[in-house]
Amino acid sequence: MAKVEFRNVSKEYTENVRVVDNFNLNVNDGEFLVLVGPSGCGKSTILRLLAGLEEITEGEIFIDNKCVNRIPPKDRDISMVFQNYALYPHMTVFKNMAFGLKLRKFPKKEILKLVNKTAKILNIEDLLERKPKQLSGGQKQRVALGRAIIRQPSVFLFDEPLSNLDAKLRVHMRTEIKKLHNRLKTTMVYVTHDQTEAMTMGDRIVVIKNGIVQQLGAPMNIYNDPANFFVAGFIGSPVMNLLNANIENGQLIINNGKIKIPLLETQKKVLRSYNDREIIAGIRPENITIENNGPNYVGVKLFLDVFETLGSEILLYLNDGKSNIICKTDKYDPKIKQTDTLTVFFNVDKMHFFEKESGNKI
Ligand code: ADP
Ligand code: MG
Repeated sequence: MAKVEFRNVSKEYTENVRVVDNFNLNVNDGEFLVLVGPSGCGKSTILRLLAGLEEITEGEIFIDNKCVNRIPPKDRDISMVFQNYALYPHMTVFKNMAFGLKLRKFPKKEILKLVNKTAKILNIEDLLERKPKQLSGGQKQRVALGRAIIRQPSVFLFDEPLSNLDAKLRVHMRTEIKKLHNRLKTTMVYVTHDQTEAMTMGDRIVVIKNGIVQQLGAPMNIYNDPANFFVAGFIGSPVMNLLNANIENGQLIINNGKIKIPLLETQKKVLRSYNDREIIAGIRPENITIENNGPNYVGVKLFLDVFETLGSEILLYLNDGKSNIICKTDKYDPKIKQTDTLTVFFNVDKMHFFEKESGNKI
């Protein structure tokens, strides 16, 4: 068990190109923390800095209040699971799992005990004599997990460990890793580009873009209150509808008047200084409904391009003649037809507003 702290950490692979820029983060003891962001934003670099596999350009990293900048990887008491599993192909599952312990000169009896115990936790007891090429993707991933947990390090690092699995197995392993965390209660730092993984797995999430932290918080706090335009568009599926707008006489004018929405009194106050300025208005697909659910709902007439029935919900792909707008509803209305015009209802109370220039939340 350990806590981890990044203090003003920056990384340059080539001079003056910062792929991680002034990164600050406290990971609590026993926490499951997820770093999420698009490919190339610096997630793997941050993990590798923590593991000691890359040199820090500026700043300090602490594990349990001890600066580890000059401590080699093998002495950091960390283990890492990679996307490509990194198993030794010529070794059996048993030997793959035992390898790290052997290096550390654990006695044979102890190794046998630990491998069996770990194999039991991960349900791979029957696979111990197989070689990696005789395993499915999910089984390989379990072995990689086994190899990481067998030493009971104080911090686990995961770098997109589920990306090579098919969708169904990914969902399954997601819950397996969470269960493992509940059981081991070890500090885990988990990297993914997949916002669903981040939302479902993290105690807290750090959203990163271009090496810079955009927002840090509990999944639902980030979902309900995104700090900026980028986070709003990145977290959530289907994505939040983000529309060009301006304010005129207490009304939100979207797409030069294609949609007009009277604002609530509190919103008028918040947006007062944005008169005559372009802003971005955001609304999540589930906050657009096909029924008028009360006083905060405003009817908007839109064209329906396509709809998708997903069983428990229906996605309506609408447009106002300028932008596409997605509505997610659980009300199946057989009267709805493709290529129709439809009145849907925006829950004005649930709208988000962002500055156009900075992208920051208003
Ligand atoms: P992510 O894991 O979020 O996809 P990475 O941390 O792998 O991002 O990479 C961040 C940036 O650093 C990318 O622009 C990448 O090209 C660059 N980068 C990563 N590793 C190296 C390296 N060893 N040398 C030079 N540039 C690198
Ligand atoms: Mg990466």
